[in-house]
Parts: sequence; C-alpha cells; structure tokens
Amino acid sequence: REQEELYEAEGNIRVFCRVRPLLAAEKETQKGMEHLHFPPQDNKTLVLLREEESHIGRERKDDLKYDFSFDRVFQPSASQEEVFEEISLLVQSALDGYHVCIFAYGQTGSGKTYTMEGPDALDPERRGMIPRAVHRVFQGAQELAEKGWQYRFSASFLEIYNESLRDLLGARAERGELEIRRVSSTSEELHVPNLRCVPVASEDEVLQLLQTAAANRSVARTALNDHSSRSHSIFQLRIHGTNAARELRCSSVLSLVDLAGSERLDKSQSQGKRLRETQSINTSLSSLGLVIMALAKKEPHIPYRNSKLTYLLQNSLGGNAKMLMFVNISPLEENFSESLNSLRFASKVN
Ligand code: ADP
Ligand code: MG
Repeated sequence: REQEELYEAEGNIRVFCRVRPLLAAEKETQKGMEHLHFPPQDNKTLVLLREEESHIGRERKDDLKYDFSFDRVFQPSASQEEVFEEISLLVQSALDGYHVCIFAYGQTGSGKTYTMEGPDALDPERRGMIPRAVHRVFQGAQELAEKGWQYRFSASFLEIYNESLRDLLGARAERGELEIRRVSSTSEELHVPNLRCVPVASEDEVLQLLQTAAANRSVARTALNDHSSRSHSIFQLRIHGTNAARELRCSSVLSLVDLAGSERLDKSQSQGKRLRETQSINTSLSSLGLVIMALAKKEPHIPYRNSKLTYLLQNSLGGNAKMLMFVNISPLEENFSESLNSLRFASKVN
C-alpha cells in the first residue's frame, strides 16, 4: 500500500514527470537531451541545464541550472508498464469509492497522448494508461466480487474545444454542443444532459468505445488543422458498487484527461481563430492549476467555474478525490523554455 500511504502523507495530488525519448528522425537532425540531467540513484529529480550565450560586453558564460523534484521522474527508457505500475493502486482505489483524476500536461509533441492512450490501442506492450486503467478496474471488480461487491459501470468521452463541449461517442449527426447543468436547482451536483454515458460490462466494451472516440476525433482532425492538440479530451468511467450482504454502496468517477498543448504561441502570430484557441487553452490550464492549488490549501472557495474544464470536473476534484498529474517533457533542446514552463507549472501544483 505504499502508493496509498503517499496520498495520506502528502495530500491529494501527486505529480509524475515523464521525458519522452528522441524519435528516430530527431536523432538524426536535432539536438536533444544534453540539457536534461537525471541524477543517479534518484528517481525524483530532473535538472535542466543551459549555458547562456555570453552577454555583450561580458566574457563570462553563465550556467543556468534548474532543479525540479516530483513524486517520480520517468526517464525516456521507462516503459508504459513501468509507468502504470506506479498508478495502478491509485486507479484501483476508484473501486473503493474515491474519485480519481489523472491528467497529462505538456506542450504538443511531449508525449501526452502516448502516455494516456498509447500509440496503438491493440499493442499490449505500448498501450497507454487509459486501456491499462480500464483493464485494472475490471480485474479489480472481479476480485472484489468474492467479497460480495457488485459493480455497474458507464463510460463517457468528450472533448472541450474553445470552451465548448463535444461528445466523442455520439453519432456525427447528434454532435451538437453540450452544456454543463446542475442536476437540480438545490443540488451542487452537475451533469451534462445529452452526453452519452454508455453502460459497459466488460473491458472489451470500453475498448470499442475508445475506438469510436478515436474515429470521431480523426474526422475533426482533417476538418480543423491540428485540432486534437488544441482540445482537452476527457474519458470518464462512472463506477457504482453495492455490497448487499454488508448493506454498503459506493460510487465514484475515474477521469483520464489528455489536456490541450500548453505551449505559448507567439503573440504576433496568433490572430483570429488561433488567438481565441490560445486564450481559451491558457484560461483552462491556469484555472486547473488554481483549482488544484486551492484544493491543496483547503481554501473555502474553489474557483471551479472559471473554465469548462474545471467546472465539468467539479464533482470529481476535491472532497475525497485523488489526483495525479503527468507533466510530459520533450527531450529536444529547442523546447528548453517550454519544458521549463511546464516544469514550473507542475511544481506549483505539487
Ligand atoms: P502529445 O500528445 O503531447 O502532442 P504525442 O503523445 O503525440 O504528444 O507524442 C509525440 C510523438 O512522440 C509521437 O510520435 C509519439 O508516438 C512519440 N512518443 C511520445 N512518448 C513516447 C514514448 N514514451 N516512447 C516512444 N515514443 C513516444
Ligand atoms: Mg496529443
């Protein structure tokens, strides 16, 4: 129960840093990795190093050195399995009634989608955290059946693009905009009327839904250039457990979120649609940071309503929720300043 103890000792958010490897094509053409240091015998620290260009009139070169520490740092060689091992108990705690929320944060091209979905849903070695989590949950439910627990599951998959919500499981014709509403005027509980929440009874049924979502997204990708990196995608598995013999019930939501790319666009270049996209991404990512920080400080007011992303997740962040953020880092030296920004953001919420 080592992972569980971590949560008790350190509060409800953990941050894992993952640096992706250089791709084959990058190895030939790009500089990478020399600015990243992984201290030996230490799997919690990442150091960014850069020799600054000497300033005019000054001969001396300054080394810039930034140390970051997280709950775990995964080097480029870390496999999907090694990464999942570190979150499997967290995922399983969703069966005990804890809301669990896992995010991937980082610039476009840093490995968020690889981490969450994997490069190929059918490749058992390289599949990502979402299919592995689904597997773990169904396996865990089977184990708990021996103790008298029976579970019902339902799944939804949506994306938020420019502060509007779209169902990734709906047929094309029904893909209108969705709204977040209160369940009733007296309730704090939120729901999204018209969002498909599909009852699922097996891992295979969920994997099929993931394929539907992927197909729906690739349609959008051709229509809007690079749409997927500009939107947040949110997979949610709702879990209801009952134990008739012991008269117990529990319910929770397991949310796995592939966030929009955190890169800052050159202001002079972003106009019109691009500018609006950038502003809405900045708003939602910074709101997410503020919500997590407010939760950590146990502030009386949590600013969920500042973005669709945090509003949607309101019920599953906070309270007894357990959160994990992956900060994904590109190994390329040209991405130094974006990596620095991502690491700073992640340190603030940790
Ligand atoms: P993002 O979703 O953050 O934009 P991707 O997940 O699409 O980034 O990753 C960018 C590229 O790097 C893809 O070609 C992906 O397959 C590759 N990649 C990312 N992480 C890894 C990894 N851990 N091992 C191997 N290849 C990776
Ligand atoms: Mg992606």
